[in-house]
Amino acid sequence: MALKKFWRPIIDKFQSRLSVWKAKTLSFGGRLTLIKSVLNSLPTYYMSLFKAPKGILDDLEKLRRKFLWGGDDPKSKIHWVSWPKVVAAKSDGGLGVGTLKAQNIALLTKWWWKIKTGDMCLWKECIISIHNLNKRPVTIIAKKSANGTWCNIAKAIQSLPEYDVNHQDLFTMIPSSNTSFLFWKDRWCGTLTLQERFLRLYSLEKKKLCTINDRIKTDSFNWCWKVQQMVDDVLSDFISLCSLILDAKNAILQSGAQINWSKTVPLKIRCFIWRALLDRIPVAANLEIRGIKLQSATCPLCNLEKETGDHLLINCSVAREARGWIFNWCGIKVTQFNNVIDFVNFAANWGSCPKKRERMNAIVYGLLWFVWMARNNTVFKQTRVNPAKITDEVISQTYTWFKYRTQGVKARWIDWSLSPFC
Ligand SMILES: [Zn+2]
Repeated sequence: MALKKFWRPIIDKFQSRLSVWKAKTLSFGGRLTLIKSVLNSLPTYYMSLFKAPKGILDDLEKLRRKFLWGGDDPKSKIHWVSWPKVVAAKSDGGLGVGTLKAQNIALLTKWWWKIKTGDMCLWKECIISIHNLNKRPVTIIAKKSANGTWCNIAKAIQSLPEYDVNHQDLFTMIPSSNTSFLFWKDRWCGTLTLQERFLRLYSLEKKKLCTINDRIKTDSFNWCWKVQQMVDDVLSDFISLCSLILDAKNAILQSGAQINWSKTVPLKIRCFIWRALLDRIPVAANLEIRGIKLQSATCPLCNLEKETGDHLLINCSVAREARGWIFNWCGIKVTQFNNVIDFVNFAANWGSCPKKRERMNAIVYGLLWFVWMARNNTVFKQTRVNPAKITDEVISQTYTWFKYRTQGVKARWIDWSLSPFC
């Protein structure tokens, strides 16, 4: 799309619209509205993917300019105000039309935004692997040696400083939801990178390109320094680094959990987890808030405490016992959780192997679901609760999910029943 001839259809479209509208019959205000609403949106489709050549942008601007000042006839009209003033923002004394060049760059930059914030999809996977973006700081957008559409997009992003915009400022990282950001080189904790802020510590780091998830685990840090012991003033840097990260981490934990929407777990269960994370499941406490009268608001599993979502699924003795069995089966240390968000986040960040993490995730979702099922059976069918039965159901159901809903897990039942990480 670097050649002018490819953009011909847009110029033709612009011209055809202009001749139809008969600028002369419209007021200045009418023409301004048309320029803003219709002419601006005509090239959007092309401009959202390709960088328009300068010549084309000049031609299009010329057409808009002529139209605003009432001239679709060949006779030139007086342009009473210079075009840069017209396109300037209203706060800067203009009419807020905006230039096509700025529009083009804004649309292209959107792709970078989508790479950084959107869900994983095919185009994104391609771009990330071709340009190896996973292991690069946020400032690097494309491989130097490559060319093509994405490189033009990258160049457009690099031209943002012309507009006093630094694209790094637009991103605040959320480490729990993104594993690929670099611990030292990306901005995720305040306005500076940790490399900029803690230069001495950075020089002691063994693996300069480590990711946030390499260093921060759910309940601990995982450092890898070049030295055995730090001298005193570096140590004080280290303490401030830790407290900075802890603050950021707490803020992240409060901001909620990331749901894994992968198809391993049945959709109804994923939706249940989504509701549980938002505390929107029909437990007694939530029904009472909504004005529904109940005979009893105590937890039907333990009959001891008020039934809230976090109590039922996490803190109830039945849920805790089943969780103990499951953790035992997984061969991991039993950890305490305060609420559903904690537990789901634990699975989302567990371990370093993505395949094993996927299994852990399904197991956690399964456990929450079968505790919920046990609760419903107790309430509606008056069956007796049995943590061992919940555990058995989680083990056998997760096996079925991995066997029949995904490809790749070839475990035999006998192995699975001993450990899900066989
Ligand atoms: Zn209970």
